[in-house]
Amino acid sequence: MGKLYVVATPIGNLEDITLRALRILKEVDLIAAEDTRHTLKLLNHFEISKPLISYHRHNEDVRTDELIEKLLEGKNIALVSDAGTPGICDPGQIIIKKCIEKNIEIIPIPGACAMINSLIASGINTSEFTFLGFLPLNKKSRKQKLEEIQKSNKTIILYEAPHKLMSTLKDLEQILENRQIVLAREITKIHEEFIRGNISEIIEKVENLKGEMVLIIEQNNNLKEEQSLNNLTLEEHYEFYKKQGMEKKDIIKKISKDRNLTKNDIYQYFLEK
Ligand code: SAM
Repeated sequence: MGKLYVVATPIGNLEDITLRALRILKEVDLIAAEDTRHTLKLLNHFEISKPLISYHRHNEDVRTDELIEKLLEGKNIALVSDAGTPGICDPGQIIIKKCIEKNIEIIPIPGACAMINSLIASGINTSEFTFLGFLPLNKKSRKQKLEEIQKSNKTIILYEAPHKLMSTLKDLEQILENRQIVLAREITKIHEEFIRGNISEIIEKVENLKGEMVLIIEQNNNLKEEQSLNNLTLEEHYEFYKKQGMEKKDIIKKISKDRNLTKNDIYQYFLEK
């Protein structure tokens, strides 16, 4: 049985490919690529010659079956996307799920990923973060995501296309108050820059900004304690008060108030556990 290698490729600077990724690309039987012409340029640069097959959003379903067949025949396949890590806002999920079903080994080959590299240089809290990818365009789902961002006590990471940046920033302006934002643009490329400020400062600085970009948004520090506690599991919520030396009866009373649940609901939950 063959193996599926999920290979990260550069997000701009061609030096950001690992020695292991190059070796795997040289060794596999076939490379499944989001855009074969794009990947061909990368392969030519590193003097790698390999059969390529397209694997993108519009043929993922059909191609998955073909690729699985080849893997079952014993062929090793590398999966790459146009840039960065496959599966992160890029195709990959479908074939990976299918490989798991068929007991085909999946091997990640780490490398560049725009969200991680933007986050680590942002200066914004890296200890806990939520990656939301691109904000949905559908009004209702977009509103839900914006509410999630508003209430989040974790750093938020978003991807955005340059032509949609201003409308996204305007939507964020409604909910962010004074939270810090870092716009990481064209990272690893010649015009790499990090634009920092609160939402109104960012809006002033970015008119007609071009290139690829990631938005890193500071956590909401103004959340009341109960709101943050309500993001915990009931067990964690219980432990929080227990550590403060509270008695069981008082803890249940407090949790029921924080979460707007009856004391009975809470007892029942713990009984069932
Ligand atoms: N799989 C990729 C990864 O690992 O980051 C992401 C692919 S997603 C289709 C493309 C988005 O990633 C862009 O719209 C942008 O938000 C972000 N991105 C990719 N390359 C970037 C770069 N060099 N600088 C800033 N953002 C980048």
